[in-house]
Amino acid sequence: RASKQSALEAYIKRKRSKCDWSSEYAWSSDVRRIADEYFGVREFRRNQLECINAILSNEDTFLIMPTGGGKSLCFQVPTLVWSSGLTLVVSPLIALMSDQVMILRSLGIGAAMMTSSSSKEENNQVRDWMKTLHGPSKGGQAALEAALRFLYVTPERVAKSKLFMSSLEKIHAAKNLSLMVVDEVHCVSQWGHSFRQDYQHLIILKRQFPSVPLLALTATATPQVVQDVQKTLEVPNSIVFKSHCNRPHLFYQVAAKPKQPDDVLQVMAGFIKQLDKTAAGIVYCLSKKDAQAVCAGLNAKDIPSAFYHADLDGADRQQVHHQWSSGAVRVVVATIAFGMGIHKDDVRFVIHHTLPKSPDNYYQESGRAGRDGRPAYCLLLYRPSDVVRHSVMVFHETTGLDLLYKMVSFCHAQECRRSMIISHFGDEGVACGGMCDVCKRPACDSSEAAASASASAVAKGGKKAKGGRGKGGEGITVGAVEDGAVCLLEMLAKVQGTETKYTLLQCATEWKKLLGKQKGALKGDIDTCQHLIVSLILEGFIKEEFSHTPYSTNSYCVITRRGTNALQRLQNGQRGVLPSHVTQGIEALSTAADTDTFFVHEVMQESSSSSAAAGSAPTDRRATQEFKTL
Ligand code: ADP
Ligand code: MG
Repeated sequence: RASKQSALEAYIKRKRSKCDWSSEYAWSSDVRRIADEYFGVREFRRNQLECINAILSNEDTFLIMPTGGGKSLCFQVPTLVWSSGLTLVVSPLIALMSDQVMILRSLGIGAAMMTSSSSKEENNQVRDWMKTLHGPSKGGQAALEAALRFLYVTPERVAKSKLFMSSLEKIHAAKNLSLMVVDEVHCVSQWGHSFRQDYQHLIILKRQFPSVPLLALTATATPQVVQDVQKTLEVPNSIVFKSHCNRPHLFYQVAAKPKQPDDVLQVMAGFIKQLDKTAAGIVYCLSKKDAQAVCAGLNAKDIPSAFYHADLDGADRQQVHHQWSSGAVRVVVATIAFGMGIHKDDVRFVIHHTLPKSPDNYYQESGRAGRDGRPAYCLLLYRPSDVVRHSVMVFHETTGLDLLYKMVSFCHAQECRRSMIISHFGDEGVACGGMCDVCKRPACDSSEAAASASASAVAKGGKKAKGGRGKGGEGITVGAVEDGAVCLLEMLAKVQGTETKYTLLQCATEWKKLLGKQKGALKGDIDTCQHLIVSLILEGFIKEEFSHTPYSTNSYCVITRRGTNALQRLQNGQRGVLPSHVTQGIEALSTAADTDTFFVHEVMQESSSSSAAAGSAPTDRRATQEFKTL
């Protein structure tokens, strides 16, 4: 019976999702009137009207739309179409809440917020307003107009304040609670890019008020995040509206990050100087210390920069925003604290000085470029030693290492970067149109052609091999990599269960010493060795083990059962034990970036032709238009 039940549910869900949410409803003329009268909106953007209609049909709804896409309108219009009743909006961002409350009030709509930063008096005032909704509406136009229609609260309020929840229950009992909205809903899921414990408590919303529709909002969510949210918030059948995540104007490149900080600066400055003199951008660093050092370095190279991180106080933050918007500063060198509330549309580049901690973070951070719909460059500087800088910080999170390794795979892979991002978010594939380094790079040999076969448009006929391919394709052979792997895995097998432990760097150093004694062995420096070790971590042949000292957490390389197995097969002379991408990727990754590595001129100038090319695929055109309007 249970399976029959779930089959029925699945059927209803399918049926609902096929329902045409943009057709005419009894409320359609009210929707149009209110959107125009209050918000000056005559034309809805994609999925807005559909979402509004689903909410007005009392459905639980899930809306995934890029930042600036217009998610707020989707709950503001339905609330006003209902002539009375309260919409509760849960949001973690106090600054954005107060903006919205101000806008709504200026339109004569009753709106308020309750946060930890509001004063006691303010909160008491809001509580009084809430009390007016504890009984049936007294009627009369004046009472209706004075009523509280939108209440913005932080997730802690829902989780922790009994007083608040009991008031909300009374509002519900009086049939005055119309809609519940959870903004930044990806915070519910450990698979999202900024998990927050407080969000777990929001389960209480549907438990207490099952008949009230819930709207979940976010800019990015993988299918996994959507499922996780639906489960946690108990809205399993919510109707999902999702914009395609493709950003056709963003060029993605991963380049090998040099070892020495000075060389890294040189590469970054070289890159930035190839861009237009006024082009503004962001450099994301892992630590506050890095951000400050990189900022000083760029300034010393005559690139006006400012740093931004969590230790800056409000006034300093404002100043950085201001200098950057006005063009006094070209580059903000920042930790991930810099993000929320960036309103700059013409960000021409985002550089990741260190790889981000997950693909979701990467999409979010790189996505701050090119909101004006013009081409923008997303450059990620990758070196294997940065992987362990992250792993020691995230290994205790449930999804920490999984997501980090997914990000590392993105850096290692020799396939279309865009396709990888798009498939991560579960969207339909699109043509890259040569807008990533892999698709742009001229195919040098057959193995590469195979690697980039998934990319439909491989740019051919480039003058020079780029992206670290310049040194010829015969340096590292498959055989040498396999022999090297045997040597490495043997070394790790030998110390297994003993006191001896190798960090990534020690492991590479010891291994290189052993290789030095072998004839015809894998050539390459410590970086090449580290790359291969990381590749084997991604394959599950080696794993990181973590241990604490009083001062730090260390990561050690340990052979796994899978690795022991692979070693035996390799020793028996079996071929194909190492996947081809392991053997192929090493060389590209090991040649540190230089000024020749970038495609700045082609990408920034090819704008018209590449967007025309991208436009040939229907999904692409849609996404292009969408971002032009943002
Ligand atoms: P999000 O929450 O998705 O980041 P907002 O709801 O804050 O975005 O909306 C961003 C901006 O877009 C707002 O200034 C809003 O007024 C505007 N906007 C929303 N929908 C439309 C529309 N259909 N047409 C024109 N402007 C719109
Ligand atoms: Mg918003």
